[in-house]
Amino acid sequence: MQIAEVFSFLESLANPSLQEQYDNAGLITGSPDWECLGIICSLDATEDVVKEAVAKKCNLVVAHHPIIFGGLKKINGKNYVEKTVIAAIKNDIAIYAIHTNLDNVIEGVNGKMAKMIGLQKLSILSPKENTLKKLFTFVPVDKAGDVRNAIFIAGGGQIGNYTECSFNIPGTGTFKAGAGADPYIGDIGKQHQENELKIEVIIPAYLERSIVSAMKAAHPYEEVAYDVVALSNKHPQIGTGVLGEFDQPMDEKAFLNHLKSVFQLSVIRHTQLKGKSIKKVALCGGAGSFLISNALRSSADAYITADVKYHEFFDANGQMIIADIGHYESEQFTISLLQEVLEQKFPTFAVLKTGIRTNPVYYF
Ligand SMILES: [Zn+2]
Repeated sequence: MQIAEVFSFLESLANPSLQEQYDNAGLITGSPDWECLGIICSLDATEDVVKEAVAKKCNLVVAHHPIIFGGLKKINGKNYVEKTVIAAIKNDIAIYAIHTNLDNVIEGVNGKMAKMIGLQKLSILSPKENTLKKLFTFVPVDKAGDVRNAIFIAGGGQIGNYTECSFNIPGTGTFKAGAGADPYIGDIGKQHQENELKIEVIIPAYLERSIVSAMKAAHPYEEVAYDVVALSNKHPQIGTGVLGEFDQPMDEKAFLNHLKSVFQLSVIRHTQLKGKSIKKVALCGGAGSFLISNALRSSADAYITADVKYHEFFDANGQMIIADIGHYESEQFTISLLQEVLEQKFPTFAVLKTGIRTNPVYYF
């Protein structure tokens, strides 16, 4: 199996186009053409993880955080980034990062956190803009089923738990084939009228190219008439942060104890307890202060995240509890998430979780 097969599977879960602009997800070292010998899943691709990969005869590290984030001006081993990159290149280790694209899908980092805590009725806390489009095309009636199915198979027509959603309007198409054309139906130089269906299907913006090419491949016409229109609707499963609910409300101390036990924490930094019970919870793994206002607007009783600064704790306004559980701690289950999905997809293959604690933060 080529490393490229692993990437294309991971990209079907979290398309790289869903990463934030500042991010650097994707293949960082190595080549997609290499044969994959084994995979190590980790939050961080550090030099120790690269050494672990070598020792365990794996040549692919799938990490959440990209080891190269800004640019590299020199590669002489003066810092941990350069050391890691040198070790990876010397040992033919591929490093692949699946970062904010995995934060931006509901089955990603935050959905996994929510499931570990036992939240239900999950939704995205801050849906991403410009993620949906509408595709219209015009097809002779007897070929409409083929074209519709091709669009569905390529990923169009999904709304919530419903697939194969489309709307179909009959009408008459006209066209006159010119010199050099090879019309599917009708004669050169004469106007032809054809009974057609106008098919409209909602599509995820990031799949536009593959859906349009699947549609064209299934369409009988030499020149396919179609429109792609941007929508201001938001894709309910794409975006950052997750909102969910407990089955039963929990008192605040029980809630914090629950977090301690699920995430194996020695300490939680949090805002003042209010004596209210906790039912609705917002969360965002990693540095999630930017979603405090979204969490407030969602009327969550608590917001679980990490890397919260002193002044940002004030932003809770006494309306909800902010619980800062630590960056690594909040994202730790991403390692199992990656390992589980990869092992399920490639069951005969070595997919390991790193044995190295890459958290740079210790508590005294
Ligand atoms: Zn992170």
